[in-house]
Amino acid sequence: MSEMILKKSDLADFFKSLAAECQLLGPVEDGGRIKFAPADPGVFLLDFQNTFMSPKNLFFPQSERLLTFTTDSSDEKAFILEDSGDKPAPRAVFGIRPCDAKAFQVLDRIFRNDQYEDPYWFQKREATTLIGLGCNRPCPTCFCTSVNCGPFHEEGLDVLATDLGDQLLLKGLTEKGEALLSKAKGLKKADKKALEAAAGQKTASEEAITVKVPQDQIPGRSVLDLFEAEHWERVHESCLNCGTCTFVCPTCHCFDIQDEVCRCDGDRVRNWDSCMSWLFTMHGSGHNPRPGKKERVRQRFMHKFKYIPIKRDGEIGCVGCGRCINLCPVNIDVRDVVRNMNA
Ligand code: SF4
Ligand code: SF4
Repeated sequence: MSEMILKKSDLADFFKSLAAECQLLGPVEDGGRIKFAPADPGVFLLDFQNTFMSPKNLFFPQSERLLTFTTDSSDEKAFILEDSGDKPAPRAVFGIRPCDAKAFQVLDRIFRNDQYEDPYWFQKREATTLIGLGCNRPCPTCFCTSVNCGPFHEEGLDVLATDLGDQLLLKGLTEKGEALLSKAKGLKKADKKALEAAAGQKTASEEAITVKVPQDQIPGRSVLDLFEAEHWERVHESCLNCGTCTFVCPTCHCFDIQDEVCRCDGDRVRNWDSCMSWLFTMHGSGHNPRPGKKERVRQRFMHKFKYIPIKRDGEIGCVGCGRCINLCPVNIDVRDVVRNMNA
């Protein structure tokens, strides 16, 4: 594991050397919101709180063509599904927040099980090197430290950068990250003073997140006990089932697959979906196992804080990014819901 120093005055050369190797994306402002995009590295931001949408679309686009087919019956391949041929190019993404990187790891374990691996997710994951940027200024709605994560958490990242004012400390965390650092220009080995400054920044950021969301009672309570708890009768009342919380969430991953045909050219496409939609669980028979708001709201929280932990060795399906708290139009706050579940 190497720990290197990059002076901010050498940042442009560093980005230039990365861009010579692969496509480079970073945090940029677009209409007052922050997002990851390919751009002139000179406009990449270092001081931002987080992106408006989570970066899950880097690996799980909102709409993605999976397969193609033709409906032309004179073609011997009519109605045979073929690989779309869309293959990801190597790329590096600078500025990923530790909570969002941890969310990629949560989704790695969902998009892969003993029998099946989602190639569309993993092809992009493998082609991408993630350079994280620790959070010097967590938001008031961040609660990553309550969900096995933190403002300088390293899981899911290839390199972690710490902003030390006039320089960045870059820590290689994986083989991919080390390879990237070995090729990058303008780096020198970190000295003791820089390492101490980075450790101090990590502690200060962790201490700045004062909110606590205890979950110690949840593992010991049965699914049925939590499922039938009285608080669900109240939580759902104000929910509009707008789905905002699910679309911005870095760990929400529901999708729907449909065929789109224009003349004889067909695409099999997968699009984000939401468990907040009544249609999401509608059966062909007309029966809907989650017919009301209560069932749908309960599903979202039970999935993240009970079902995923049961299936994934205690892994929590939330990384505490706070996006759903900031953006829910009726102020439903995941921290309050989880406190209720725990109580
Ligand atoms: S953002 Fe709020 S109102 Fe919209 S579906 Fe989520 S919890 Fe309900
Ligand atoms: S549930 Fe809310 S706080 Fe948790 S990861 Fe999703 S958007 Fe972030």
